[in-house]
Amino acid sequence: QALTAGATAQPPPPHFVLVPLPAHGHLIPMVDLARLLASRGARASLVATPLNATRLRDGGVDDQALLEIVELSYSPADYGLPPDCQNADKITDNAQLLPFFLALRELAAPFDAYVRALAPRPSCIISDWFNSWTAGVASSLAIPRLFFHGPSCFFSLCDLKATTHGLHERIAAADDREQHAVPGMPVSVKVSKGRVPGFFISPGCKELREEAMAAMRASDGVVVNTFLDLEDKFVACYEEALGKPVWTLGPFCLHRRDAEGMASRGGDKPGVSESAITAWLDEQVPDSVVYVSFGSVARKLPKQLFEIGHGLEDSGKPFLWVVKESELASSEAREWVEALEARTAGRGLVVRGWAPQLAVLSHRAVGGFVTHCGWNSMLESIAHGVPVVTWPHFSDQFLNEQLAVDVLGVGLPVGATTPVMILDDDAAVPVLREDIARAVSALMDGGEKAEVRRRKAKEYGAKARRAMEKGGDSYEKLQQLIETFIYGGG
Ligand code: UDP
Repeated sequence: QALTAGATAQPPPPHFVLVPLPAHGHLIPMVDLARLLASRGARASLVATPLNATRLRDGGVDDQALLEIVELSYSPADYGLPPDCQNADKITDNAQLLPFFLALRELAAPFDAYVRALAPRPSCIISDWFNSWTAGVASSLAIPRLFFHGPSCFFSLCDLKATTHGLHERIAAADDREQHAVPGMPVSVKVSKGRVPGFFISPGCKELREEAMAAMRASDGVVVNTFLDLEDKFVACYEEALGKPVWTLGPFCLHRRDAEGMASRGGDKPGVSESAITAWLDEQVPDSVVYVSFGSVARKLPKQLFEIGHGLEDSGKPFLWVVKESELASSEAREWVEALEARTAGRGLVVRGWAPQLAVLSHRAVGGFVTHCGWNSMLESIAHGVPVVTWPHFSDQFLNEQLAVDVLGVGLPVGATTPVMILDDDAAVPVLREDIARAVSALMDGGEKAEVRRRKAKEYGAKARRAMEKGGDSYEKLQQLIETFIYGGG
């Protein structure tokens, strides 16, 4: 296009290519990051599998200038996965997790072709820790590359320290409950075999982990969805251990609308409309309602569902409980939940499917959250000043529990000692109704300990908001990041 007389050519905006893991809990923060970058004048390209690309477009995620969705595909069937397995939510069995990670490596070739065709070359690639295959593409084209960590800095630091000191091998050889101290942490952290992510210690995942660790050491730094005031000592220690910048740019959720988070989930719509949920919350006393939800993956068997329902009923507190459609597959479960709703009408609200979690957590009526400790949920709760009952299920969630309870002082454990698996696990011992009623009452009732937890949560919430405002640490760091990589890391 010819320039009009006197006009000066504008340099193109810095261009970030983001490569999320196609799993809901990993996709949400990367979508948030892409939208944040675009809102600050950078171009953001979000790499998505066809299924996720459709979900994100349907949800209007790309309705923002400077943000585009790039569709790349792999062949799940070649790895024994369901043919439509273009997102982790299509996995039906824990044994499919490793093939899923291996199948994702097929994205390297189309990704290489996509990046090579870009002119000018992108300023920086930001890839999920699990997508270490991006490292080869970035280094062959001399494009700077950052690793994105979905979990907390505390968790990622524990993982690095455990790897450096050969702790995973010792844990793998030990029995389930033997406690191991993680060396080199700024606070005391204990882990046991039954309460660490399976991919830490599973022999099948060793190669993938080693690849990811090597790719991280060769990267230009890492991005973590957290804020400095929340994890300052872990950020400093991580930066020192890695010898690279750790960009703490969150909590991203303070920049999100609920619809964007829901978009990456696809078809699952809330069983009760957002306005009906808000209207119900509007009638409740401030800080009185306990919100109960276990993220996008964990699925409860009926026996566990009944214990949760009884526990909430016995606690006597107002509750808003999200029950997944897949948990209501049997008529027994459906009828039981309907009977509970009738018994607790007015005091309890059961949402089937998917709740607008940010709208719920930011409502003044919500004063507690029973959570599985997924990092997105945990951070969303903290960012809105809501203390938690912790009930970790798998992966990083056990360490997130330690962070919330022992370090930040915003959480109270439900007392679950037996980890449950990602999907249904008939052998898992349910958490009993007494545990749930006791923990919910202790979280929501007054009393010194409850007040301290609530005060701390509200203080962190205020700090989170400050971090994301102009002049705040996360806001200014995002600006620095854009400027650092404006000329491809120059
Ligand atoms: N979420 C939601 N509504 C629900 C359940 C989950 O909006 O009914 C969102 C929640 O806000 C969070 C994400 O889904 O952003 C769950 O991520 P998390 O890391 O907490 O857990 P995961 O799903 O990865 O186990």
